[in-house]
Amino acid sequence: MDWRTKLLDPAPLARQDYTSLATPVYRGSTVVFDDQAAVTDDWRQHENGYSYGLYGTPTALELASRIAAIEGAHQTLVVPGGQAAIALIYLAYCKAGSHALVPHSAYGPNKAMAEGLMRGLDVEVEPYDPLIGDDISDLIRENTALIWCESPGSVTMDIQDVPAIVAAAHAKGVAVALDNTYSAGVLFDAFAHGVDVSMQALTKYVGGHSDLLLGTVSARDAAALDRLGPIYQQLGLAVSPDDCSLALRGLQTLAVRLDALERNTLEVAHWLARQPLVDEVYHPALPDCPGHNIWARDFSGSSSVFSFTFNDSVSSDQVINFINALKVFRIGMSWGGVHSLAVVYPKLERPNQDFAGRIVRLNIGLEVPSDLMADLEQAMSGLAP
Ligand SMILES: *Cc1c(COP(=O)(O)O)cnc(C)c1O
Repeated sequence: MDWRTKLLDPAPLARQDYTSLATPVYRGSTVVFDDQAAVTDDWRQHENGYSYGLYGTPTALELASRIAAIEGAHQTLVVPGGQAAIALIYLAYCKAGSHALVPHSAYGPNKAMAEGLMRGLDVEVEPYDPLIGDDISDLIRENTALIWCESPGSVTMDIQDVPAIVAAAHAKGVAVALDNTYSAGVLFDAFAHGVDVSMQALTKYVGGHSDLLLGTVSARDAAALDRLGPIYQQLGLAVSPDDCSLALRGLQTLAVRLDALERNTLEVAHWLARQPLVDEVYHPALPDCPGHNIWARDFSGSSSVFSFTFNDSVSSDQVINFINALKVFRIGMSWGGVHSLAVVYPKLERPNQDFAGRIVRLNIGLEVPSDLMADLEQAMSGLAP
């Protein structure tokens, strides 16, 4: 063969029996088949063999299988981010004319998708009180196709009675999806509590270092997977094997990071609860948190994100000054990494609740808690009237 042809021969020349502790990064779009009869375009690669890199190379399938094993799922699909996971679930369960329910306290972009994309597709997504429990039954209609849960909710940290919502939903044949990002898929056992589909942003705790974007959608059983798979294929939700490799590395330290983050976060949250300018601390393990008792019943721990409110002696402008005065905490939205973050929500509103720009969300990282508390203290001292 000409040397130019030799350049293109895909057959490996080196020994292939390398065994290590790291999952190889398999790149590839085209899959090469043994013969014409074997050619397929099938998203069910776990069962039927590899068909196309779009549905994951072995690196992505390794990550999917590990998440499924940890969450106790039937099977997991890896997608480009948490928001892509939310889109996949909506589009798999809802069609024109469907009704869906989403808690008021859901992740903002989930509600934006409800009001935007889903409304445009003639799907009505109705917000509900996250603390509704089994009264959700009254909101279920003939055409209700999906109930979302997110527990704790974003920013206000409301803990939902997921088992009660699942029981009411299943009694009327409605599927329940859970955004389980706060729990990293482990602190709350979604499938033991009856959820049909559980998603998480791996961007947060599994990635764990603020350097990748990925999400997962985990199916309770074959029926849930059969709904999700074809839509996953049609949307073309490809992921990078490099990002999957980073997420696989993140999984190796997930347990120790979650333990350390929980300890650091509890220390800062308890300290904040004692500060004279602080009104309430919305941390699942603290009694101010809406649904705290349900957290104590259903969760095996807490993680690193929580909120607090200043009392009404502090103006909304002063809260912004407080954020800007922080030195160790960085100002940022995403969370679950090793750095502490703070952000104020100047316009956050919930039905019957206006926080008047006094609600601050923190993500606690792996810095030493005494340095974090000193930073909060110096920023608060600037607020003294
Ligand atoms: C961050 C987040 C998402 C979205 O994840 P991305 O990977 O940023 O798209 C979804 N749900 C919750 C609760 C989140 O905090």
